[in-house]
Amino acid sequence: MATEIEGELAEEVNILKRKGISPALTIIQAGDNKASITYARSIRKKAEKIGIYAEHYKLSEETNEKDLLEAIKKTNERKEIDGILLELPLPKSIDKRKVLNTIDPDKDIDGFHPVNMGRLFEGSPMFIPATAQSVIEVIKSVIPIAGKQAVIIGRSNIVGKPAALLLLQENATITICHSYTKNLSKIARNADILVVSTGKAKMVNRTFVKRGAVIIDVGINKINGKIVGDVDFEDVKDVAGAITPVPGGIGVLTTLMLLRNTVKAAKIHNGIV
Ligand code: NDP
Repeated sequence: MATEIEGELAEEVNILKRKGISPALTIIQAGDNKASITYARSIRKKAEKIGIYAEHYKLSEETNEKDLLEAIKKTNERKEIDGILLELPLPKSIDKRKVLNTIDPDKDIDGFHPVNMGRLFEGSPMFIPATAQSVIEVIKSVIPIAGKQAVIIGRSNIVGKPAALLLLQENATITICHSYTKNLSKIARNADILVVSTGKAKMVNRTFVKRGAVIIDVGINKINGKIVGDVDFEDVKDVAGAITPVPGGIGVLTTLMLLRNTVKAAKIHNGIV
């Protein structure tokens, strides 16, 4: 899927460039978080391969909220930049919601601005959070979603909630679970589609899985230096009908979805969609 999407994007960017449109993205980072630096590097590498301009604007760990807001406002005004990605987490002294709300909703390729969340809620999304978008694309590639029972474990704004809304939009019947949910494994066993995004390594085992279910593992956890998901892959693989691995699953698609949103933003800014 990743190879196919990458090829499609490169082709689309090529066509846009022939019309004089060059999709461009700014990654804004405040602080020295190592994972954010790695993420920015991998986005830039993939963007370059596809033909999208991507720059990384890094402010120091001592950056205050005012400086960060100023940097975002300036980027909002730059006509040549189509998409803004704000790296999270931010330094503790900075109000994340205030900063996210300052990004121009038409450049909000992460889909975290309340305007874009609202659009998703009412069923006419413009920018869908990249990970949730990956989740839906993968499910659609293996089964028709309409009429299925979908259970989502995790209710974060960046994964669980948008994934649930998208599944609802595709006419699944949804159940959203979280840390207060009672009889979690019993509820999960009803699922034709089980999406897990908890950040708890291998918490989902075969007792959570109905035979033949499609399992989407979003989690990225480290155990003894090894990356594992929220699902115990070895335990579940013979019961599940299909399952995404970690690493090499949803994470691979997330960057591509972000770049797809950048191309979409470029088209919107140039009046093509
Ligand atoms: P959050 O920490 O924001 O949310 C976790 C959710 O899981 C919460 O809703 C929490 O419930 C719920 N939860 C935690 N423990 C349990 C439990 N024992 N039983 C039931 N529910 C539980 O996580 P994210 O959604 O942001 O991320 C989750 C994982 O996905 C992480 O490992 C992260 O690294 C990974 N991730 C991967 C991405 C990718 O591209 N592959 C992108 C984004 C994240 P409550 O609300 O009650 O606290």
